[in-house]
Amino acid sequence: MKFDFLSESDQAYFIHKASTLVEALPYIREHSGQKIVIKYGGHAMGNNELSQNFSKDIGLLKEVGINPIVIHGGGPQIGEMLKKKNIKSNFVEGLRVTDMDTVKIVEEVLSNDINKKIVNEINISGGKAEGFSGNQKNLIEAEKLKIAIKGSDSNIEKILDLGFVGNPIKINISIINESIDKGNIPVIAPLGTDKEGNTYNINADTAAGAIAGALKANKLLLLTDVAGILDANKKLIPSLSFEEAKNIIDQEYILGGMKPKISTCIEAITKGVKKATILDGRISHALILELFTEHGIGSQIYS
Ligand code: ADP
Ligand code: MG
Repeated sequence: MKFDFLSESDQAYFIHKASTLVEALPYIREHSGQKIVIKYGGHAMGNNELSQNFSKDIGLLKEVGINPIVIHGGGPQIGEMLKKKNIKSNFVEGLRVTDMDTVKIVEEVLSNDINKKIVNEINISGGKAEGFSGNQKNLIEAEKLKIAIKGSDSNIEKILDLGFVGNPIKINISIINESIDKGNIPVIAPLGTDKEGNTYNINADTAAGAIAGALKANKLLLLTDVAGILDANKKLIPSLSFEEAKNIIDQEYILGGMKPKISTCIEAITKGVKKATILDGRISHALILELFTEHGIGSQIYS
């Protein structure tokens, strides 16, 4: 059957569009009413077109009955501000060593600049976002992170001091759930406080994993600036089991920021999250491609 008011190529185009929507239906059903925790990375956020598409995608998820919770990073933006203020910064095991001056900048950039910008962008694209800082209202309770490393010439472990880098120990999910119940999209800056009231910088992947675990989210999505987990030959690993993920974390080709990402996925799945995906935030509409199409993108870790 042909529509004589459309050219053949237009017909093919619109039929393809319709089938894309139909293809999305089982996925919408799978996630409807569920929570999906999304880590929005510093790199993907830097581009206007990508960030506008991200905001639209988040709004779309909400419209089809899914509850997105956004945790944002801010690495590049924090780096720029530290450079401006002449504060030196270095990374150990993918985590930023954070002294008292640095934590103040981290808080300023994450809570004041980036969080407000994301909330605003989601609101402009028609969603209803609510911003939170993890170090306020006891949202993320943290303790100083302790990383044990083995010396290159011995097997003796030493504990690294990264300063005010926190490990989330408790997430007060009632704050997040109240926001969702009001129909809002929570947007959370990855900071935490300890019992003494110290503020900690928490790696955004780590914070997102802890929040996904505490909420028993259906899915954890970590947006980044690479295709996903790359193997020793730089080839994408499209999917891996929880056990396989545990085994690759100590391989020498897993470096820098990829380490906290994989351990976060493992941690989240241990706490009951069904699937965790590390995906390429440089791709337009990465969220929609991953959630609503048959092929998906990135590296998926399943329980
Ligand atoms: P984000 O802002 O997404 O947290 P990070 O720089 O912290 O970005 O982490 C992502 C980076 O991890 C990639 O840009 C890449 O350079 C690095 N990386 C190290 N090992 C791997 C690997 N095996 N596969 C993919 N990326 C890796
Ligand atoms: Mg990172």
